Amino acid sequence: MADLLVVEDDETIGSALTGGLDSHGHAVCWERTGAGALDRAAAQPFDLVLLDLGLPDLDGVEVCRRLRLAQPGTVLVILTARRDEIDVVVGLEAGADDYLTKPFRFGELLARVRAHLRRSAAPPAAETSDLVLGDLVVDTGARRVTVDGIEVPLRPKEFDLLTRLAAAPGVAVSREDLMADVWDTHWFGSTKTLDVHVAALRRKLTAAARPKGTVPEIVTLRGHGYRLEPVPD
Ligand code: CA
Repeated sequence: MADLLVVEDDETIGSALTGGLDSHGHAVCWERTGAGALDRAAAQPFDLVLLDLGLPDLDGVEVCRRLRLAQPGTVLVILTARRDEIDVVVGLEAGADDYLTKPFRFGELLARVRAHLRRSAAPPAAETSDLVLGDLVVDTGARRVTVDGIEVPLRPKEFDLLTRLAAAPGVAVSREDLMADVWDTHWFGSTKTLDVHVAALRRKLTAAARPKGTVPEIVTLRGHGYRLEPVPD
């Protein structure tokens, strides 16, 4: 059983979500405002948060940012209307791991929630050898990344993405494979989640490499995906 937080001001959607998730064995808290969600998140850890971005009191993106700070390890999924697609990118940049656009079917949401919970609860791989590329070390057992011995704080999906690319340096990985392996979801056309996470990862690795470290470059392969460039000796 997982502890879930639903942040949704719409009574119909909120009660359908909480009722449905509860009937599938989860412990669900429901908050109708951003302030309520932040209070709740300050008091109790959650495995996963479903956050509607259109809230009556606070800007949903700001709530997203503060929830991410309050609970770095939680899975944060934002809910937004299709016409507000720009919010998705901003929300992902503010710390969301994934998103669903309204209207969605409950079955679709449940599948996504299950996939996220399964992944975040997965025990570390039996082989926990470090992946070493230049000054970058990915410790898959401890889920810890360092550059030149200094830890780089990565969000859960950024870590999974880096691990996937670093497992095969120099090998092209398609967008479809990355979406399937990191988000457990079939790629259905939108590239936002992946691109925002790659951009954040690049930014963090580059910043960590300053002033003297060497980190592998994440190369964009147009029309295909990404490749982690091996670091020359
Ligand atoms: Ca709303």
